[in-house]
Amino acid sequence: MSLELADEQWKAQRILKHALQSDKISHAYLFSGPSGTGRMEMARYFAKALFCNADGWDACGECLECRKFEHGNQSDLIMVAPDGQSIKIDQIRELQRSLSYRSTQRGRVVYIIEAAEKMTIQAANSLLKFLEEPVSPIVAILLTDNGQAVLPTIRSRTQWVPFLPMLPEKMLERLTSEGASPLLARAAVQLSSGLDGARQILQQNGFAEIRNLVIQLGKESTSRFTAAMITAQQQLFKTDLANHMDLLLSLLTLWFKDLTQFQAGRQDKLVFIDQLEWISSNAYNRSFAGWVSCMEHVLEAGKRMRANVSPQLAFEQLLVNLQEG
Ligand SMILES: [Zn+2]
Repeated sequence: MSLELADEQWKAQRILKHALQSDKISHAYLFSGPSGTGRMEMARYFAKALFCNADGWDACGECLECRKFEHGNQSDLIMVAPDGQSIKIDQIRELQRSLSYRSTQRGRVVYIIEAAEKMTIQAANSLLKFLEEPVSPIVAILLTDNGQAVLPTIRSRTQWVPFLPMLPEKMLERLTSEGASPLLARAAVQLSSGLDGARQILQQNGFAEIRNLVIQLGKESTSRFTAAMITAQQQLFKTDLANHMDLLLSLLTLWFKDLTQFQAGRQDKLVFIDQLEWISSNAYNRSFAGWVSCMEHVLEAGKRMRANVSPQLAFEQLLVNLQEG
């Protein structure tokens, strides 16, 4: 098993390496950082090293424990993930039962809780009870997008391990090396804080079409109202693209942001870099504040849709607002 992580994760790696090398293993860790930063890979790597009969950060890959781990037969590794929207108290009770059974049997037990911020209050309180009475050979690894969203009582009983988002430039480099279109990847990295998220966006059906439509709507919306209305009706609401409204609105926000970036002299930051010619000849049609209020109108439209206003109605209202500035 090799561990392929971005350089940003040196801090997390240092904390865990040090724990293993000095044999000072905490009974609970909180891996906090956006998805796509390698939290699960790191958790599994760490767990494997904890089980391995050899000492140190890198598991030997040869002992019985390593072989069990590699074949997915390491029964002392317990995984907990949300059941639907949340992690429920029954899941934590089940975990507790497995732990008490296993820890009386043999050596170390490791459990990994994914999306730990999704524990219900009851589940978190139940977990807290056994975090408070640590049994030494048990190691908990809690993974979360947002460590601040985890109950403070749990946070204070775990060692914080930070996972930092990858820099957009690095994500872009990585995605294009994987074969993604540079133009699409440029947009995807702006829409996601992590590599996995950006990959998912790139794999979405119609992402390229949505981007093209956003360019057209972006251009028409501020000067050619009727054309924009027709484009929305024909190419958005009569097609499957209407199912990707969140993505479309996020991209439209980036479109207007590009116009502010251009005014601010940051051409290298443009997302729609292939539209530089149009952007350079139209960026001063409105003031900087004017483009910012376009971005606000788009956000507002998204809010209205989430509040169950019909998407078409909210979008047409958005076009009116963009036209008026
Ligand atoms: Zn080993």
